[in-house]
Amino acid sequence: SSQAGMDFSNDQVVLNSESLEMRLEKLRQTYKNGKTRSSVWRKTQLKALLKLLRENEEDIYKALYDDLGKPRVETYRDEGRIPLLFFPASGEVVPEPLGLVLIFSSWNFPLDLALEPVIGAISAGNTMVLKPSELAPSCSSFLANTIPRYLDNDAIKVIEGGPDVGAQLLEHKWDKIFFTGNPRVGRIVMTAAAKHLTPVTLELGGKCPAIVDSHLSSSNLKTLCILVVNKRHFERLTNLLRDPGVLDSIVHGGSLDEAKLLIEPTILLDPPLEAEIVTEEIFGPLLPVITVKSIDESIEFINQRPKPLALYAFTNDENLKKRVVSQTSSGSVTFNDVIVHLVCDELPFGGVGQSGFGKYHGKYSFDTFSHGKGVLRRSFLIEIGPRFPPWNDFKLAF
Ligand code: NAD
Repeated sequence: SSQAGMDFSNDQVVLNSESLEMRLEKLRQTYKNGKTRSSVWRKTQLKALLKLLRENEEDIYKALYDDLGKPRVETYRDEGRIPLLFFPASGEVVPEPLGLVLIFSSWNFPLDLALEPVIGAISAGNTMVLKPSELAPSCSSFLANTIPRYLDNDAIKVIEGGPDVGAQLLEHKWDKIFFTGNPRVGRIVMTAAAKHLTPVTLELGGKCPAIVDSHLSSSNLKTLCILVVNKRHFERLTNLLRDPGVLDSIVHGGSLDEAKLLIEPTILLDPPLEAEIVTEEIFGPLLPVITVKSIDESIEFINQRPKPLALYAFTNDENLKKRVVSQTSSGSVTFNDVIVHLVCDELPFGGVGQSGFGKYHGKYSFDTFSHGKGVLRRSFLIEIGPRFPPWNDFKLAF
């Protein structure tokens, strides 16, 4: 990235731990002086972030294309009652920021998964360090170069790097860690956080099943032909196809172009259930289809596996929809479409069980980066006797 060495925001390689601690201390001081809590600061920073996005649209397209081959069109996405005994009193929930937060993002939506939590952390009034994924270097570099130019550098830093840098950051004390990534690293993050009792939000991964009702007509099924190609993982994806019994299960596609790192959209019918293509995340145009005899079997299949981040069901059967919602557990459920719940800010986004915990997007992001402090305001005006001993039958009955 540019400005190398000029600014802490661009530290790429292994960080000098002493200077990192000093710089984190600076962020903590920014937090302590109260700057990030004013609504003016929060609004200014959010507006600056909007400006960053608007003024750098072309660079955003380019970074996402360089890292993920994303076409331009894919880049867009468009309290409390008080008991009578305490009368007169009132209560309210006062949100307060958490302090200095650490945000890790992953490579597959490298800008969205970095900026969405940053927006939440700013709106709640925190200072923060963002560590983007090193596996999307153009996007990571874009964030490291633009954020310091648009946002308050005393409060918001970007540190680039891979697992080594991530591990170094985890050695420090944070007031919140927001992590998007895989469950293995999620465990590392949570272990590090436990040392300081730091709260964590873990946005993890796993398999997201899609139930397809056999009663749907073929015109409904066209909706399903949506696939995401990732050039970088060509080798991993081709290895998935080499597992015993997997090649034989291909019913559509299967051509590979190693020179161009292209994989034809491929459908596999009933590959072995123990094959990695069934058990592991795919991130490529390979679609294993498992046939089951009944909806009971579908539900059992899902419930025997780790709780998914998202569950999709394609059906017009209202009864089946009810059963999917009430008899399975997942971060979210979407009927007759995929992924679109991601852009509905009224809906919480997050996992459950193995797919993580905590939720964000919209108001949920604000809550995730805030502490909701319960504040009870009493008055000296009236004191109700039964609150205090000595107790008698009358007072106990009150
Ligand atoms: P990852 O866990 O390898 O990396 C995530 C972040 O953690 C990166 O910034 C990386 O540099 C850092 N990191 C990696 N190893 C580390 C270590 N040992 N110590 C400290 N930091 C470390 O994940 P990924 O490969 O970038 O992303 C793919 C995973 O993320 C998949 O499992 C996917 O399902 C999941 N994911 C989840 C969501 C969600 O919203 N729940 C969204 C996208 C991706």
